[in-house]
Amino acid sequence: MSMIKPDFEKIKAEYIWLDGTKPTAYIRSKTKILEKRIDLFEDVPIWGFDGSSTNQAEGHSSDCVLKPVKVYKDPIRGGDNIIVLSEVYTVDDEVHSSNNRASLRELVELYEYKNFICGIEQEYTFLKLDGTPYGFLESINMDKQGKYYCGVGADKIFGRELVEDHLDACLNAGLEIEGINCEVMPGQHEYQIGAKDALTVADDLIIARYLLERLGEKHSIVVTLAPKPAKGDWNGAGAHINFSTAEMMESNSVFENIIDKLKSKHFEHIAVYGAGIEERLTGAHETCKFDTFRCGVSDRGASIRIPWKTAKEGKGHLEDRRPCANIDPYEALAKLMSTIIE
Ligand code: MG
Repeated sequence: MSMIKPDFEKIKAEYIWLDGTKPTAYIRSKTKILEKRIDLFEDVPIWGFDGSSTNQAEGHSSDCVLKPVKVYKDPIRGGDNIIVLSEVYTVDDEVHSSNNRASLRELVELYEYKNFICGIEQEYTFLKLDGTPYGFLESINMDKQGKYYCGVGADKIFGRELVEDHLDACLNAGLEIEGINCEVMPGQHEYQIGAKDALTVADDLIIARYLLERLGEKHSIVVTLAPKPAKGDWNGAGAHINFSTAEMMESNSVFENIIDKLKSKHFEHIAVYGAGIEERLTGAHETCKFDTFRCGVSDRGASIRIPWKTAKEGKGHLEDRRPCANIDPYEALAKLMSTIIE
């Protein structure tokens, strides 16, 4: 009689990367079965994929390489299963043109001594499978904006179950998640990642985005990061970046200089703060118009908001309110870091 040896050791590793779709990359992922649980990062194998299906290569030379850069616990599959965040390389071991993480990684290493710390407020909107915002219900008399932000009640909050599942998943994966809140438009929510170094924040944000979309599959809810998901008198969706350096935390003598730099490079920032930014930064709905740069204390209609505490104490962090929900966090944070530090 032959025995079947059960193999309990095998695990699932979900490799995650950003594709080459323009103007906004999609998250891609696929599963590799590993022979045993991973105890050392060095044991996570390099992998590959067909770049001709992800806008990262031509069909005649389609192989792209996935280099693992960080491992997380997989909170959806549980057990010893893992998520493997990866950077895309060419087969010649060069950084792929779609790989914006590599530039941010270098900047963060180079300027570690500046102690650039940031947090991102990721807003997003739930959609029904037909593309209309989840929460725009014919059965309920839709009020204009006002009662939904941080609201409570079945006539105000839509998709709470998925929001809570996502929060648990982020915590179980070990992400640097700080909090959540319901947003101004029905079906719109936010989570905050940080405050940490730029690379940790960007990495954790990509994993948090992945988890939300993945859990959305279970709930049949689509997640969009579109900056203006509903036309008309509805707020858009942003990704405000709060940031500081060691100098900013110590004295106010640097603020004028930093704001001047941000002003002089305003349009370079607008260019990497998310496709469709003009639709969101209109000057209404708590935004400053995309072609204008303004800075103000406690001003949510400014490009850069100086929090009251920073103004009062003459030191602390600033908030860049321009970035849209669909930013590439690697690209946006690299721009912000290089503008204020270099
Ligand atoms: Mg918000």
